[in-house]
Amino acid sequence: MNKDKNDDIRQYLVRKMKTLMSSANGAIQKLKISNDKLADPCDQASVEASKNVELHFWSKEWKTLLDIQETILRIDHGLYGICDHCGRQISSKRLKAAPMSKLCVECQQKMENRQNKSKEQTLNTTRISYHHAC
Ligand SMILES: [Zn+2]
Repeated sequence: MNKDKNDDIRQYLVRKMKTLMSSANGAIQKLKISNDKLADPCDQASVEASKNVELHFWSKEWKTLLDIQETILRIDHGLYGICDHCGRQISSKRLKAAPMSKLCVECQQKMENRQNKSKEQTLNTTRISYHHAC
């Protein structure tokens, strides 16, 4: 992995990070404004519900943002392209397809298998608690 190539990736990530940050700020402003307008508690509840959906969406975006920041740090520390789990070099093919990879294919697959299991558990608990009062 040569340095110039990492610089390109770093610049791309910094740009992506700035775009995400400005759209996230816009969405947070919008949420604040819509919160002030409604007095009816039942309306308020449905607004809260849609706000949660939006917040959920943005928490995903924030996660991407954190991933980008972490990847930039890894580049700065010369750790970019090295698997976080086993320390082996991540293939350049994989890095091209997913620049923010911090795990090699093998470790990623192991991780995903584990995540899918915990995701099923989360979905089950969501279904049980999903009752609306209004
Ligand atoms: Zn690995």
